[in-house]
Amino acid sequence: MEEVSMRVAVRIRPLCRGEILEDEEVCVQIVDGQHQVKVNTPEEVINFDHAFGPNLTQKDVFDTCVHPLVPRFIEGCNTTVFTYGQTGSGKTYTMGTLGIIPRAIDDIFNLLNEKKGIKYSLATYYIEIYNEELRDLLEKKNDMNIILRDDKWGNTECAVNTKKDLLHFLEEGSTRRRVGNTLLRKRSSRSHTIFTIFLRQQRGHSQKTKDGIVKGEEIISKFTFIDLAGHERMGRSENKMRFNESININKSLSTLAQVISSLAIPNTDKAHIPFRNSKLTRILKDSLEGNAKTVMIVCINPASTLDTLTSLKYANQARDIKPKTMVNHV
Ligand code: ADP
Repeated sequence: MEEVSMRVAVRIRPLCRGEILEDEEVCVQIVDGQHQVKVNTPEEVINFDHAFGPNLTQKDVFDTCVHPLVPRFIEGCNTTVFTYGQTGSGKTYTMGTLGIIPRAIDDIFNLLNEKKGIKYSLATYYIEIYNEELRDLLEKKNDMNIILRDDKWGNTECAVNTKKDLLHFLEEGSTRRRVGNTLLRKRSSRSHTIFTIFLRQQRGHSQKTKDGIVKGEEIISKFTFIDLAGHERMGRSENKMRFNESININKSLSTLAQVISSLAIPNTDKAHIPFRNSKLTRILKDSLEGNAKTVMIVCINPASTLDTLTSLKYANQARDIKPKTMVNHV
Protein backbone atom coordinates (compact mmCIF):
# COMPACT_ATOMS: atom_id res chain seq x y z
CA MET A 1 0.00 0.00 0.00
CA GLU A 2 1.41 3.39 -1.02
CA GLU A 3 2.01 6.01 1.72
CA VAL A 4 -1.23 7.96 1.92
CA SER A 5 -2.79 8.95 5.23
CA MET A 6 -6.43 8.22 4.38
CA ARG A 7 -7.75 5.44 2.18
CA VAL A 8 -11.38 4.78 1.44
CA ALA A 9 -12.73 1.38 0.41
CA VAL A 10 -16.22 0.19 -0.45
CA ARG A 11 -17.62 -3.23 0.38
CA ILE A 12 -20.88 -4.36 -1.20
CA ARG A 13 -22.51 -7.23 0.67
CA PRO A 14 -24.49 -9.98 -1.11
CA LEU A 15 -28.28 -9.78 -1.13
CA CYS A 16 -29.58 -11.72 1.85
CA ARG A 17 -32.17 -14.52 1.53
CA GLY A 18 -35.10 -12.26 2.39
CA GLU A 19 -34.05 -9.70 -0.20
CA ILE A 20 -33.72 -12.39 -2.88
CA LEU A 21 -37.17 -13.78 -2.02
CA GLU A 22 -38.60 -10.27 -2.28
CA ASP A 23 -37.02 -9.88 -5.73
CA GLU A 24 -35.02 -6.85 -4.61
CA GLU A 25 -32.88 -5.39 -7.37
CA VAL A 26 -29.18 -4.74 -6.98
CA CYS A 27 -28.70 -0.97 -7.28
CA VAL A 28 -24.92 -0.86 -7.21
CA GLN A 29 -22.01 -2.68 -8.82
CA ILE A 30 -18.27 -2.51 -9.24
CA VAL A 31 -16.90 -1.47 -12.61
CA ASP A 32 -13.43 -1.49 -14.08
CA GLY A 33 -11.99 -4.33 -12.09
CA GLN A 34 -11.62 -2.88 -8.63
CA HIS A 35 -11.83 0.81 -7.93
CA GLN A 36 -15.07 2.25 -9.30
CA VAL A 37 -18.58 1.84 -8.01
CA LYS A 38 -21.56 2.42 -10.28
CA VAL A 39 -24.97 3.27 -8.87
CA ASN A 40 -27.90 2.56 -11.20
CA THR A 41 -30.39 5.32 -10.44
CA PRO A 42 -29.44 8.06 -10.94
CA GLU A 43 -26.59 6.63 -12.95
CA GLU A 44 -23.34 7.67 -11.34
CA VAL A 45 -19.78 6.34 -11.09
CA ILE A 46 -17.66 7.10 -8.01
CA ASN A 47 -13.96 6.27 -7.54
CA PHE A 48 -12.48 4.73 -4.41
CA ASP A 49 -9.10 3.37 -3.38
CA HIS A 50 -10.51 -0.17 -3.23
CA ALA A 51 -13.87 -1.75 -4.00
CA PHE A 52 -14.91 -5.22 -2.79
CA GLY A 53 -17.82 -7.02 -4.42
CA PRO A 54 -20.14 -9.54 -2.76
CA ASN A 55 -17.87 -12.50 -3.56
CA LEU A 56 -14.80 -11.20 -1.79
CA THR A 57 -13.97 -12.56 1.64
CA GLN A 58 -13.21 -11.15 5.07
CA LYS A 59 -9.58 -12.10 4.45
CA ASP A 60 -9.50 -10.17 1.14
CA VAL A 61 -10.79 -7.04 2.87
CA PHE A 62 -8.40 -7.42 5.80
CA ASP A 63 -5.32 -8.20 3.70
CA THR A 64 -5.83 -5.21 1.40
CA CYS A 65 -7.04 -2.56 3.83
CA VAL A 66 -5.81 -3.33 7.34
CA HIS A 67 -2.83 -5.69 7.23
CA PRO A 68 -0.53 -2.88 5.89
CA LEU A 69 -1.41 -0.68 8.88
CA VAL A 70 -0.12 -3.15 11.48
CA PRO A 71 3.63 -2.56 10.91
CA ARG A 72 2.98 1.20 11.04
CA PHE A 73 1.27 0.79 14.42
CA ILE A 74 4.23 -1.22 15.71
CA GLU A 75 6.58 1.50 14.44
CA GLY A 76 4.72 4.01 16.60
CA CYS A 77 2.12 5.59 14.28
CA ASN A 78 -1.52 5.97 15.26
CA THR A 79 -3.66 3.85 12.96
CA THR A 80 -7.42 3.83 12.54
CA VAL A 81 -10.06 1.79 10.73
CA PHE A 82 -13.62 3.05 10.30
CA THR A 83 -16.60 1.12 9.06
CA TYR A 84 -19.47 3.25 7.94
CA GLY A 85 -22.91 2.46 6.49
CA GLN A 86 -26.60 2.09 7.21
CA THR A 87 -27.92 -0.50 9.66
CA GLY A 88 -27.87 -3.88 7.89
CA SER A 89 -25.13 -2.92 5.43
CA GLY A 90 -22.51 -5.28 6.92
CA LYS A 91 -20.49 -3.07 9.29
CA THR A 92 -20.51 -5.48 12.22
CA TYR A 93 -19.82 -8.42 9.92
CA THR A 94 -16.83 -6.57 8.44
CA MET A 95 -15.36 -5.13 11.65
CA GLY A 96 -16.62 -7.28 14.51
CA THR A 97 -15.71 -10.49 16.27
CA LEU A 98 -15.48 -12.47 12.99
CA GLY A 99 -13.98 -9.71 10.89
CA ILE A 100 -11.19 -7.18 10.97
CA ILE A 101 -10.48 -6.73 14.68
CA PRO A 102 -9.55 -10.33 15.61
CA ARG A 103 -7.39 -10.57 12.46
CA ALA A 104 -5.63 -7.33 13.40
CA ILE A 105 -5.07 -8.64 16.94
CA ASP A 106 -3.49 -11.79 15.48
CA ASP A 107 -1.22 -9.73 13.24
CA ILE A 108 -0.18 -7.40 16.07
CA PHE A 109 0.88 -10.29 18.32
CA ASN A 110 2.66 -12.08 15.45
CA LEU A 111 4.66 -9.00 14.62
CA LEU A 112 5.50 -8.21 18.24
CA ASN A 113 6.67 -11.80 18.75
CA GLU A 114 8.93 -11.52 15.73
CA LYS A 115 10.61 -8.43 17.18
CA LYS A 116 12.88 -10.09 19.64
CA GLY A 117 14.00 -8.10 22.63
CA ILE A 118 11.63 -5.13 22.54
CA LYS A 119 9.92 -4.24 25.78
CA TYR A 120 6.26 -3.46 25.35
CA SER A 121 2.89 -3.40 27.09
CA LEU A 122 -0.64 -3.30 25.72
CA ALA A 123 -3.95 -1.95 26.95
CA THR A 124 -7.45 -1.46 25.59
CA TYR A 125 -10.78 0.27 26.01
CA TYR A 126 -14.12 -0.27 24.28
CA ILE A 127 -16.72 2.48 24.34
CA GLU A 128 -19.95 3.56 22.72
CA ILE A 129 -21.05 7.12 21.93
CA TYR A 130 -24.81 7.29 22.04
CA ASN A 131 -26.64 10.62 21.82
CA GLU A 132 -23.35 12.43 22.56
CA GLU A 133 -22.88 10.42 25.77
CA LEU A 134 -20.06 7.97 26.39
CA ARG A 135 -20.62 4.48 27.79
CA ASP A 136 -17.92 2.02 28.80
CA LEU A 137 -18.71 -1.31 27.14
CA LEU A 138 -16.22 -3.03 29.46
CA GLU A 139 -18.02 -1.57 32.49
CA LYS A 140 -14.95 -0.65 34.52
CA LYS A 141 -16.78 2.29 36.12
CA ASN A 142 -14.13 4.75 35.01
CA ASP A 143 -15.07 8.30 34.22
CA MET A 144 -15.15 7.99 30.45
CA ASN A 145 -15.19 11.73 29.96
CA ILE A 146 -11.47 11.82 30.80
CA ILE A 147 -10.74 10.62 27.29
CA LEU A 148 -12.52 13.65 25.87
CA ARG A 149 -9.86 15.82 27.43
CA ASP A 150 -6.94 13.64 26.48
CA ASP A 151 -7.17 10.17 25.00
CA LYS A 152 -3.91 8.81 26.28
CA TRP A 153 -2.38 5.78 27.96
CA GLY A 154 -3.33 5.49 31.60
CA ASN A 155 -6.67 7.26 31.50
CA THR A 156 -9.32 4.60 31.14
CA GLU A 157 -7.98 1.43 29.63
CA CYS A 158 -7.68 -2.20 30.78
CA ALA A 159 -4.27 -3.87 30.87
CA VAL A 160 -3.71 -6.65 28.34
CA ASN A 161 -1.17 -9.39 28.94
CA THR A 162 -2.01 -11.90 26.24
CA LYS A 163 -3.82 -12.19 22.92
CA LYS A 164 -6.54 -14.09 24.75
CA ASP A 165 -7.10 -11.09 27.07
CA LEU A 166 -7.60 -8.76 24.15
CA LEU A 167 -9.99 -11.13 22.36
CA HIS A 168 -11.87 -11.55 25.61
CA PHE A 169 -12.35 -7.76 26.00
CA LEU A 170 -13.51 -7.55 22.39
CA GLU A 171 -16.06 -10.33 22.92
CA GLU A 172 -17.23 -8.94 26.25
CA GLY A 173 -17.85 -5.42 24.92
CA SER A 174 -19.46 -6.68 21.71
CA THR A 175 -21.86 -8.88 23.67
CA ARG A 176 -22.76 -5.97 25.92
CA ARG A 177 -23.48 -3.93 22.81
CA ARG A 178 -25.68 -6.62 21.21
CA VAL A 179 -27.49 -8.13 24.15
CA GLY A 180 -30.35 -6.48 25.97
CA ASN A 181 -33.89 -5.50 25.23
CA THR A 182 -35.18 -4.21 21.93
CA LEU A 183 -34.59 -0.66 22.96
CA LEU A 184 -30.91 -1.32 23.56
CA ARG A 185 -30.56 -3.20 20.32
CA LYS A 186 -32.08 -0.26 18.44
CA ARG A 187 -29.76 1.99 20.33
CA SER A 188 -26.72 -0.02 19.30
CA SER A 189 -27.34 0.75 15.63
CA ARG A 190 -27.65 4.42 16.54
CA SER A 191 -24.34 4.67 18.35
CA HIS A 192 -20.71 4.91 17.30
CA THR A 193 -18.45 2.33 18.93
CA ILE A 194 -14.72 2.69 19.47
CA PHE A 195 -12.36 -0.20 20.27
CA THR A 196 -8.84 1.06 20.97
CA ILE A 197 -5.59 -0.84 21.47
CA PHE A 198 -2.68 1.05 23.04
CA LEU A 199 0.90 -0.11 22.55
CA ARG A 200 3.64 1.27 24.78
CA GLN A 201 7.22 0.43 23.83
CA GLN A 202 10.46 1.06 25.56
CA ARG A 203 13.26 1.50 23.05
CA GLY A 204 16.84 1.52 24.22
CA HIS A 205 18.02 1.28 27.84
CA SER A 206 18.70 4.07 30.29
CA GLN A 207 22.43 4.75 30.19
CA LYS A 208 24.85 6.47 32.47
CA THR A 209 26.99 8.97 30.60
CA LYS A 210 29.27 11.79 31.70
CA ASP A 211 26.23 14.13 31.37
CA GLY A 212 24.13 12.01 33.71
CA ILE A 213 21.46 9.39 33.04
CA VAL A 214 20.14 9.33 29.46
CA LYS A 215 16.76 7.65 29.46
CA GLY A 216 15.59 5.13 26.88
CA GLU A 217 12.79 6.30 24.68
CA GLU A 218 9.12 5.55 25.31
CA ILE A 219 6.80 5.38 22.31
CA ILE A 220 3.03 5.04 22.57
CA SER A 221 0.76 4.32 19.61
CA LYS A 222 -2.96 3.66 19.24
CA PHE A 223 -4.86 1.35 16.91
CA THR A 224 -8.49 2.45 16.83
CA PHE A 225 -11.43 0.57 15.29
CA ILE A 226 -14.60 2.59 14.88
CA ASP A 227 -17.99 1.34 13.83
CA LEU A 228 -19.87 4.52 12.84
CA ALA A 229 -23.65 4.81 12.95
CA GLY A 230 -25.09 5.54 9.50
CA HIS A 231 -26.72 8.85 8.56
CA GLU A 232 -30.31 9.11 9.73
CA ARG A 233 -33.13 10.23 7.50
CA MET A 234 -35.23 12.72 9.43
CA GLY A 235 -38.91 11.74 9.29
CA ARG A 236 -41.76 13.98 10.34
CA SER A 237 -43.38 11.26 12.40
CA GLU A 238 -40.41 10.78 14.73
CA ASN A 239 -40.81 11.32 18.44
CA LYS A 240 -38.65 13.87 20.21
CA MET A 241 -36.10 11.39 21.57
CA ARG A 242 -35.54 9.80 18.20
CA PHE A 243 -35.38 13.19 16.55
CA ASN A 244 -32.61 14.27 18.95
CA GLU A 245 -30.70 11.03 18.35
CA SER A 246 -30.86 11.61 14.60
CA ILE A 247 -29.64 15.18 14.97
CA ASN A 248 -26.70 14.02 17.11
CA ILE A 249 -25.70 11.23 14.72
CA ASN A 250 -25.85 13.49 11.67
CA LYS A 251 -24.03 16.30 13.47
CA SER A 252 -21.16 14.07 14.56
CA LEU A 253 -20.87 12.55 11.06
CA SER A 254 -20.82 15.95 9.39
CA THR A 255 -18.23 17.20 11.90
CA LEU A 256 -16.10 14.14 11.11
CA ALA A 257 -16.38 14.91 7.37
CA GLN A 258 -15.44 18.57 7.99
CA VAL A 259 -12.44 17.56 10.08
CA ILE A 260 -11.28 15.07 7.47
CA SER A 261 -11.62 17.52 4.59
CA SER A 262 -9.90 20.34 6.56
CA LEU A 263 -6.98 18.01 7.27
CA ALA A 264 -6.69 17.34 3.54
CA ILE A 265 -5.93 21.02 2.83
CA PRO A 266 -2.19 21.66 3.10
CA ASN A 267 -1.12 24.11 5.83
CA THR A 268 -4.60 24.36 7.35
CA ASP A 269 -4.63 26.42 10.53
CA LYS A 270 -5.09 23.71 13.20
CA ALA A 271 -7.09 26.13 15.35
CA HIS A 272 -9.85 26.13 12.72
CA ILE A 273 -10.31 22.39 12.47
CA PRO A 274 -13.62 21.71 14.29
CA PHE A 275 -12.44 18.75 16.42
CA ARG A 276 -14.33 20.10 19.42
CA ASN A 277 -17.74 20.12 17.72
CA SER A 278 -18.53 16.47 18.52
CA LYS A 279 -17.46 13.88 21.08
CA LEU A 280 -16.43 11.54 18.27
CA THR A 281 -13.96 14.00 16.74
CA ARG A 282 -12.65 15.07 20.14
CA ILE A 283 -11.70 11.48 20.90
CA LEU A 284 -10.32 10.87 17.41
CA LYS A 285 -8.22 14.03 17.23
CA ASP A 286 -4.79 12.41 17.44
CA SER A 287 -5.95 9.42 15.40
CA LEU A 288 -6.57 11.67 12.42
CA GLU A 289 -3.89 14.34 12.44
CA GLY A 290 -0.15 14.28 11.92
CA ASN A 291 1.40 10.89 11.35
CA ALA A 292 -1.85 8.93 11.53
CA LYS A 293 -2.81 6.30 8.96
CA THR A 294 -6.51 5.74 8.41
CA VAL A 295 -8.80 3.49 6.38
CA MET A 296 -12.52 3.96 5.99
CA ILE A 297 -14.57 1.00 4.74
CA VAL A 298 -18.01 1.94 3.49
CA CYS A 299 -20.44 -0.95 3.74
CA ILE A 300 -23.26 -1.10 1.23
CA ASN A 301 -26.58 -2.91 1.20
CA PRO A 302 -27.06 -3.38 -2.55
CA ALA A 303 -30.87 -3.33 -2.24
CA SER A 304 -31.06 0.22 -0.92
CA THR A 305 -30.49 2.94 -3.54
CA LEU A 306 -31.03 6.02 -1.43
CA ASP A 307 -28.82 4.89 1.46
CA THR A 308 -26.16 3.67 -0.97
CA LEU A 309 -25.81 7.09 -2.58
CA THR A 310 -25.73 8.86 0.79
CA SER A 311 -23.00 6.50 2.07
CA LEU A 312 -20.86 6.64 -1.08
CA LYS A 313 -20.97 10.43 -1.27
CA TYR A 314 -20.14 10.78 2.40
CA ALA A 315 -17.16 8.46 2.13
CA ASN A 316 -15.89 10.12 -1.01
CA GLN A 317 -15.34 13.33 0.99
CA ALA A 318 -12.99 11.43 3.26
CA ARG A 319 -10.29 10.80 0.68
CA ASP A 320 -6.95 12.51 0.35
CA ILE A 321 -5.51 13.41 3.76
CA LYS A 322 -1.91 14.26 2.94
CA PRO A 323 0.92 11.93 4.01
CA LYS A 324 3.46 12.50 6.76
CA THR A 325 5.66 10.07 8.62
CA MET A 326 6.68 10.43 12.23
CA VAL A 327 6.43 8.36 15.38
CA ASN A 328 4.94 9.37 18.70
CA HIS A 329 7.88 10.07 20.98
CA VAL A 330 6.66 10.69 24.50
P1 ADP B 1 -24.76 -3.74 10.32
O1 ADP B 1 -23.73 -3.98 11.37
O2 ADP B 1 -24.30 -2.78 9.28
O3 ADP B 1 -26.11 -3.38 10.88
P2 ADP B 1 -24.52 -6.59 9.83
O4 ADP B 1 -23.03 -6.69 9.84
O5 ADP B 1 -25.25 -7.07 11.04
O6 ADP B 1 -24.99 -5.10 9.50
O7 ADP B 1 -25.02 -7.35 8.52
C1 ADP B 1 -26.37 -7.56 8.22
C2 ADP B 1 -26.56 -9.00 7.72
O8 ADP B 1 -25.87 -9.21 6.48
C3 ADP B 1 -26.02 -10.02 8.69
O9 ADP B 1 -26.89 -11.13 8.67
C4 ADP B 1 -24.67 -10.40 8.10
O10 ADP B 1 -24.27 -11.72 8.45
C5 ADP B 1 -24.91 -10.27 6.60
N1 ADP B 1 -23.72 -9.84 5.87
C6 ADP B 1 -23.15 -8.63 5.94
N2 ADP B 1 -22.08 -8.53 5.12
C7 ADP B 1 -21.96 -9.75 4.54
C8 ADP B 1 -21.01 -10.29 3.58
N3 ADP B 1 -20.02 -9.58 3.08
N4 ADP B 1 -21.20 -11.58 3.21
C9 ADP B 1 -22.22 -12.33 3.70
N5 ADP B 1 -23.13 -11.86 4.60
C10 ADP B 1 -23.00 -10.59 5.02
